[in-house]
Amino acid sequence: MKNFRFTALSQTLDRQVVPVAYPSNKISDYFGSMVFNQTMMREYLTKEAYKSVEMAIEKGTKIERKVADQVASAMKAWAMSKGATHYTHWFHPLTGSTAEKHDAFINPAGGGKALEEFQGNELIQQEPDASSFPSGGLRNTFEARGYTAWDPSSPAFIMESTLCIPTIFVSYTGESLDYKTPLLRSMDALDKASVKVCQLFDKQITKVYPTLGWEQEYFLVDSALFAARPDLVLAGKTVFGHASAKDQQLHDHYFGTIHSRARAFMRDLEIESHILGIPLKTRHNEVAPSQFECAPVYEEANVAVDHNQLLMHLLDTVSRKHHFKVLLHEKPYAVVNGSGKHNNWSLATNTGVNLLTPGKTPLENLRFIAILVNILKALHTHEELVRASVASAGNDLRLGANEAPPAIISAFIGEQLTRTLDEIEQMPALANINNGLSKGALGNIPKIPEILLDNTDRNRTSPFAFTGNKFEFRAVGSLANSAKPMFVLNTIVADQFNEFYEEVKKQIDQNIKREDAIFEVIKSYIKSSKAIRFEGNSYSEEWKEEAKKRGLSNNANTPDAIKAFVSEKVVSLFERNQVLNKRELEARYEIKLDKYVRKIQIESRLMGDLSINHIIPTAIKYQNTLIENARGLKDVLDSKTYVKLSRNQVHNIKEISEHISLIRQYVEEMTDERKTANKLEQCDAQAQSYCYKVKPYFEKIRYHVDKLEMLIDDSLWPLPKYRELLFMK
Ligand code: ADP
Ligand code: MG
Repeated sequence: MKNFRFTALSQTLDRQVVPVAYPSNKISDYFGSMVFNQTMMREYLTKEAYKSVEMAIEKGTKIERKVADQVASAMKAWAMSKGATHYTHWFHPLTGSTAEKHDAFINPAGGGKALEEFQGNELIQQEPDASSFPSGGLRNTFEARGYTAWDPSSPAFIMESTLCIPTIFVSYTGESLDYKTPLLRSMDALDKASVKVCQLFDKQITKVYPTLGWEQEYFLVDSALFAARPDLVLAGKTVFGHASAKDQQLHDHYFGTIHSRARAFMRDLEIESHILGIPLKTRHNEVAPSQFECAPVYEEANVAVDHNQLLMHLLDTVSRKHHFKVLLHEKPYAVVNGSGKHNNWSLATNTGVNLLTPGKTPLENLRFIAILVNILKALHTHEELVRASVASAGNDLRLGANEAPPAIISAFIGEQLTRTLDEIEQMPALANINNGLSKGALGNIPKIPEILLDNTDRNRTSPFAFTGNKFEFRAVGSLANSAKPMFVLNTIVADQFNEFYEEVKKQIDQNIKREDAIFEVIKSYIKSSKAIRFEGNSYSEEWKEEAKKRGLSNNANTPDAIKAFVSEKVVSLFERNQVLNKRELEARYEIKLDKYVRKIQIESRLMGDLSINHIIPTAIKYQNTLIENARGLKDVLDSKTYVKLSRNQVHNIKEISEHISLIRQYVEEMTDERKTANKLEQCDAQAQSYCYKVKPYFEKIRYHVDKLEMLIDDSLWPLPKYRELLFMK
């Protein structure tokens, strides 16, 4: 029999570093060269068309058909000058990845000839036959119409000779079928609400938008080893594998020297990213062996989300050139750390201000405190929804496993700010300081020291940490589309800002001075949202107890966590802010449950198949060798010596038998549970069944398989082992 493990291992030993072709020594020579960015638009568009697109980007105004024709024709000219032959609407359906359907720039021109054509209507809208995308019943298959519509706020780009046009994806009746639509709607809601609040402080502020800087973690594994692990190929994670004697316990990988093969891959990835305008900046080794991270400079959230989706695609395509596979699963290996995607989030204004930067004047300081406290209050009100926004089968394995934030949402703001908020809470009303001269009294609000900006006081265990001028949401899964946590964050903060504004306005209407009103509302929020603040170790058991007392949710599993999306409170939140309606939320809930069920089902089948086809036959083969050996010993030894010496042998044979028999039993039981679950018609009941009846077998089966891995002759073991997968040669 051919042992694929050894074939794969021998291939990895021959690997050379793949040389990288540099387009130029200077990034500025090629950065964004395949992007139809503002510079290119200015060059290719008439003044009128350029203005129109600019207005659409900034104010969301509609683009006239005539202008669209001009833009399309300019895009085509630009794209063809770069060698593009096709175009596609590029969107984020609810599968979680990106989708594209390519069309050539072609139109028959009579006389057997053809012309390159691309018209305004092809740019603005398309109707892909997209009946197989998940829609949660929003689009019956006979009514399979789904429309993609151009999103001018994210620039078009060329990838592999195809002009890609970022679009939203909606049903015939206008319901969203993608991640981008609610993201754009939430940004709109956030803009409106933030501007109202900001204008209490500064009338110059007329636009506010969220910024996102993501940090993407991933694993690299040699493509030959990957191919020899059916679980990696089909589920993106290992379902079996005994811990390697050495993995991350020496912390020698974290920030260590990057392996030459990985470095060449990263260089290539950076070049490809820069060509597509993704401002990738940082790269380093992560905690687990063969785990890495990359991060760009932050951008406006919509573009940043598109860039993250694009980067995940590039990770895959570029890694192939270097004989690697990128693992984006949140927990590809048990025992070592899993991967996340930190979403650094802040709010920026048209005046060039980051609203999460403490200001220089007392009024700016008050604004900073107001924004911060409103965010904390929003998080407190909707902690369960925030948790739900990062729920997935893969991320369940990571959250709360002592390597990532727990499934309990809390915020860390650091000692300085905690002290500041405590002081404010204790202060008398502004009007009572300085005899009612509240403008002057503003100066009494504790100053936020400059030192905050290079805040070293960091708490790595917090899911939502303030890091000087932004919040870092650390519970996002590595495979996730960041749009979801982002639209949730935007929406809850928009809603909170609206409430804040109304409360302040009510007081102003009662002739209370503006600053006094703001101050009083902030004070009440500091009190009412206190339970969400936690400065201690979020990985600890004590925190779980404490959080429970504080009434914070702790939903460890996806089916439980995502119920929050369809609660009355959340439906009315999303409807009030016009981000998603009830039908859309229910459809998404259903899709999410279905996806969860499919993932657990695949994993369960894989475990069954590998156990029965790979593991047990190998164990029996080795057991036969032991039995033969014992028999042989009996022939050559006298019976007394035999009894003494064969004890180990017999014990081994028995041990292996026990493992085999338990694996068989558990696989059978698990299969029965699966059959029962599959019969359930309600998708929430099915997801519960997969979560609480099928999934518990995973650990049981794995325990015995991993034991066998340690008992059986290494040369027989069919699957590449952790020590081989995790370390580059
Ligand atoms: P780390 O958290 O690892 O210390 P940094 O603080 O340098 O790393 O930043 C991490 C990410 O946060 C980067 O992508 C960076 O661009 C982003 N970031 C910095 N400022 C902002 C901001 N105002 N809004 C959103 N993201 C930001
Ligand atoms: Mg970070």
